Amino acid sequence: MGRSLTRCNEHQRRAAKHLPLGVSSNYRFWGEGRTLYLAKARGPRIWDIDGNEYIDYRLGYGPAVLGYAHPEVDAAAREGIEIGGTSGISTERELEVAQRIGAMVPAAEMVRFANSGTEAVMASLRLARAFTGRSMHAMVEGGFHGLFDAVLWRSEVCGADGHTEIVPESEGVPLLVGQLVQQVPLNDCERLEDLFRCKGDQLAAFLIEPIQGNCCGIPATPEYLETVRKLCDRHGVVLIIDEVKTGFRVARGGAQELLGVRADLCAFAKAVANGYPISVIAGRADIMRRLGPTVPQGGTYAAHPVSLAAAAKTLQIIAETDALARIEAYGRRLQQGIGAILKSRGVPHVFVGHPSMGGIVLSARQPRSLRDWEQSEYELYNAMAAKLNDLGVLCEPDSMEPWFVSAAHDERCLRETLEKAELAIDAALDEWHEESPESGAGGAG
Ligand code: PMP
Repeated sequence: MGRSLTRCNEHQRRAAKHLPLGVSSNYRFWGEGRTLYLAKARGPRIWDIDGNEYIDYRLGYGPAVLGYAHPEVDAAAREGIEIGGTSGISTERELEVAQRIGAMVPAAEMVRFANSGTEAVMASLRLARAFTGRSMHAMVEGGFHGLFDAVLWRSEVCGADGHTEIVPESEGVPLLVGQLVQQVPLNDCERLEDLFRCKGDQLAAFLIEPIQGNCCGIPATPEYLETVRKLCDRHGVVLIIDEVKTGFRVARGGAQELLGVRADLCAFAKAVANGYPISVIAGRADIMRRLGPTVPQGGTYAAHPVSLAAAAKTLQIIAETDALARIEAYGRRLQQGIGAILKSRGVPHVFVGHPSMGGIVLSARQPRSLRDWEQSEYELYNAMAAKLNDLGVLCEPDSMEPWFVSAAHDERCLRETLEKAELAIDAALDEWHEESPESGAGGAG
């Protein structure tokens, strides 16, 4: 299946002598022989340094919500350059962007800017601890909140009784930090009630991605979110909603608008500036006002004028045009098309989350949590994704990662994607049957 990665592979080997794995983020290393290097990105497409063209459904894990190299956003960024750089002095546009965010996200009574999603969640967590005077926080299994010690934990089932223990996601995370972390499965109200009964008065924060952007897009149910909100209120726990992936994508007001929940604090990044580096800590004025002499937040590059100008334009387009509605409509048609191909081959499947960042899970029923995803045919999915990549459709070769759609994806992309999906699915099924002839998928016709 045809693409050559000669230059990419050669570059990876040379780069690996100077950059660990030859890349600047672990997630950009897809293995020797499969790691891409970007030459150019425009609209919904990217080109690697071998000249291979791809329709991109990764979009850098979401940021390019309007498409790459968006002319109006880039023109705004150029205006931002005219300011002259990072001066360690605030610029007037911070207020404009804060107001734009406040107009779309009711919970964003006040706003501060940082550079990455990690920074925004980290600052929110510290702020919650400062506000409550408590040190512990709870998170949901399958959630991802960045690369800092307090959130790099996952639950592992141990023993026959199914009880879980939390373990660090990385070497180098101090085990001591784990004493401050609690985890619960998504959409299990009973476990949630237990957690608050036992630890509610020690928790500073409950941290949740209401649509798990790093776990197929599995959404929290409205009932679960209602219970979370109620328990946080009852126990004085700050509800932090991580909208790093969902913000300014699944709805103008993010997952909070879509699922009808209001955060005390929330974190945004990715789509805010269509990919220019900026993130947002937002929330209740009484909590946000604690930022000051006793709770530091900031940084040399915070609210960089280039990113800020790009954010103002991106948010204006999201607020004033039908960009998000078009993204959602494209996502639905993409899912209908892929669904029809899988159905005709007898492959049980469900689409998860929101069409603008939808997961494809090869299983007969909707996953309600990470534990359900583990029961799906994710290896077959991964094989299909690898074939799609070879054919020029770029989705993450890992079924935990949803497909991201931009406002630049058009009819031609859809047609091409579905033609290639048919080829990729058939090729993956052929391999699957050769390797595991007893497997049912694809047998029912
Ligand atoms: N929260 C969520 C939900 C994310 O998906 C990510 C990144 N994928 C982060 C936080 C961290 O953001 P960043 O990579 O900008 O630090």
